[in-house]
Amino acid sequence: MPDEMIIRFWGVRGSYPVPGPRTMRIGGNTACVEVQAGVHTIILDAGTGIINLGIDLMRRSRADGNRPVEATIFFSHMHNDHTMGFPFFDPAYLGGSTLHILGPKVFESDLEETLAHSMLPPSFPVGLDELPSRKILRNVNETDVVLMGATPADVEVLNLYHDQIDPSPDLVRVRTYHSYAHPKNGVNVYNISWRGKTVVYATDTEGYIETDRRLVKFASHADVLIHDAQYRTDDYINPAKPKQGWGHSTSDMAIAVAKACDAKQLVLFHHEPLYDDETIAAMEAAAQKNFPNTLSAYEGLELRI
Ligand SMILES: [Zn+2]
Ligand SMILES: [Zn+2]
Repeated sequence: MPDEMIIRFWGVRGSYPVPGPRTMRIGGNTACVEVQAGVHTIILDAGTGIINLGIDLMRRSRADGNRPVEATIFFSHMHNDHTMGFPFFDPAYLGGSTLHILGPKVFESDLEETLAHSMLPPSFPVGLDELPSRKILRNVNETDVVLMGATPADVEVLNLYHDQIDPSPDLVRVRTYHSYAHPKNGVNVYNISWRGKTVVYATDTEGYIETDRRLVKFASHADVLIHDAQYRTDDYINPAKPKQGWGHSTSDMAIAVAKACDAKQLVLFHHEPLYDDETIAAMEAAAQKNFPNTLSAYEGLELRI
């Protein structure tokens, strides 16, 4: 078992997919990030990037004597660009697969209900309950901590206030911060730690003046901070089409959080679909002048911490 946490980016785009020659280098698929921590395959969001991840998980399964796919999917929120790949996730169609699926309760609706709603006929021909895979769906709120143990099946949701939390560093621990800086019901930010390494996934969140202090505390000393950076500042404040209140950050807002929380590395994420490869490369270069260890996420990017 490798001692490193591996982070792979399968979809890095916000809002809607943008295939084509303008986005060849960065990629056009919407949000999906894979984190490998010990025996656990963790998937952050199911935008269209999860389709290629599903194909790759099937390839890995075949290469490993047809070992069934077991994975844990965390939804940040249930907006279309974060769920639209799920109906095309190949392992969900195999009876042998086990999928732990976790995400926020949206208003009064449980995760199971909102995910089922996203693929309900006539919008999609196969309902969630018709998928042959074994699915364990649970809400995860700010007062919960998810502990993942010695086997991929060992995924527990514990209430921080009522349960004894085992601090063993060999467990994968996922904590949640619910940010309200995204319309209409906010977004779950996840902090995944294992063996002293931490990755924080903060997509679809808008920066505040002097940063979101709760987020800064939550992401303190992250090895990798994946942060929404949809807009350039000049587009964000453009009086002809201001973006304030849309629930997304500028790269400057992402840098401010990275600096304030003392992150080791910042990954700019959830790129604006109208930005081509050159625009995103220019944003990355500008960001690196301010926070040197910054990368713009692209499909195929792999980080090891
Ligand atoms: Zn989004
Ligand atoms: Zn959203």
